[in-house]
Amino acid sequence: MSGTRVLVAGASVAGPALAHWLRRWGAEVTVVERAPGLRPGGQAVDARGVSKEVIRRMGLDSAVRAARTETAGAHTVDADGNVLETYRADDDGGDGYIAEIEILRGDLSQVLYDDTRDGVEYIFDDRIADLTQDRDGVDVVFASGARRRFELVVGADGLHSALRAMVFGPRERFVRHLGLVLAFYSVPNEFGLDRWLIDYQQAGRSAGLRPIQDATRAMAMFSFPSGDFEVDYRDIEAQKSLLRERMAGMGWMAPRILAHLDDTPDFYLDQVAQVVMDRWSSGRVVLLGDAAFSSSPMSGGGTGLALVGAYLLAGELATAGWDPEAGFAGYEARMRPFVEANQEIGRLHVRSLVAPGPSSEPSTELDSEWFPELIERAINGVELPDYAEMPDHAGAPDSDTPAGPPITSAAKP
Ligand SMILES: Cc1cc2nc3c(=O)[nH]c(=O)nc-3n(C[C@H](O)[C@H](O)[C@H](O)COP(=O)(O)OP(=O)(O)OC[C@H]3O[C@@H](n4cnc5c(N)ncnc54)[C@H](O)[C@@H]3O)c2cc1C
Repeated sequence: MSGTRVLVAGASVAGPALAHWLRRWGAEVTVVERAPGLRPGGQAVDARGVSKEVIRRMGLDSAVRAARTETAGAHTVDADGNVLETYRADDDGGDGYIAEIEILRGDLSQVLYDDTRDGVEYIFDDRIADLTQDRDGVDVVFASGARRRFELVVGADGLHSALRAMVFGPRERFVRHLGLVLAFYSVPNEFGLDRWLIDYQQAGRSAGLRPIQDATRAMAMFSFPSGDFEVDYRDIEAQKSLLRERMAGMGWMAPRILAHLDDTPDFYLDQVAQVVMDRWSSGRVVLLGDAAFSSSPMSGGGTGLALVGAYLLAGELATAGWDPEAGFAGYEARMRPFVEANQEIGRLHVRSLVAPGPSSEPSTELDSEWFPELIERAINGVELPDYAEMPDHAGAPDSDTPAGPPITSAAKP
């Protein structure tokens, strides 16, 4: 059946990417976003391996490349600023620690929105207030009071997903804190940064800077180990005090960077967390992106998971004739190992940063011989079927970009 009506909650990365593929396979797509418009800026995110292939199949390779940051690489430094290690954006064929495709989340969102806005209905400043499923569809009540019926509903509404809480249960059941807090805010670039990210680590804590906005400003980045306390994400002043307290005595340029906490126009602080669920669907409702399987910022793979998941969810649904049970089962089966590899990277990265106890040895997991194989699975370990070639397929490609052959991980045994 074509013309299946699908409601997607969230217009960041996963939502608009899914809208692209649903529309391409013939669905009628509505995206509802809680914010009054696209949220600009945000952190730098990356596309590596198969997610670059998804971008290519979307026909968005040049648009995404044109919107990239110009980061040349990263230096780790000691307290005096002497370089300890260097990572370049062209290491590992562009799929290294600093990826060749690095883009601010808001800029990627804008590219995806511009691509889909003509064929997709976007509703901003609204959200799903309630929903009721029956055998053939889902009745949705919006916070604005509007009532509509859809065949399928997708939650692409991020780590704190309201749809997940509504349909699957409270966030505590699925959100796992990894024991690290991250903070970001922008500062004037009075540090002489050019195109390089700088990172200083001390006793499980880190302080870093990266240039943004043509290097006129810089993004300050801090992390510190956290117990099991909850950070109230609405109380910015309390979060700033917490950051000052936890960074006390931090060397390098940290005191100068922290001095800008009072004049920064933006501030983000949150626990590093993953979402772990047994299933991503319930009846006609399914989750995608961070809402379903956040791998945490420390995996560097959240954006890739969102893009690849969007491709597979739409393709599997269309191939299954829009039958939710079969479509969602295909999506889960293909995605799970890929998600697990990326979540494993996130957990290992946090463990390598958080200082071990006085008697324990520092983490050597990242030096293990199995680590490169895990990285390969996290970057390329998922097959991308060529859905345009599938028999009984409802839609047809509307892009002049060739779909390309199915690709599979080279790392699979
Ligand atoms: C600090 C930080 C650093 C990161 N660094 C990296 C990195 O280096 N590399 C990488 O690949 N990834 C990184 N990520 C992860 C990456 O940002 C996410 O994995 C990616 O954005 C997933 O996108 P998403 O669309 O699933 O969710 P999100 O980007 O969180 O978007 C969710 C959207 O849903 C909207 N929304 C929320 N609630 C509702 C509602 N009730 N109704 C409607 N809309 C709603 C939100 O406003 C938002 O627009 C980082 C994330 C953070 C927070």
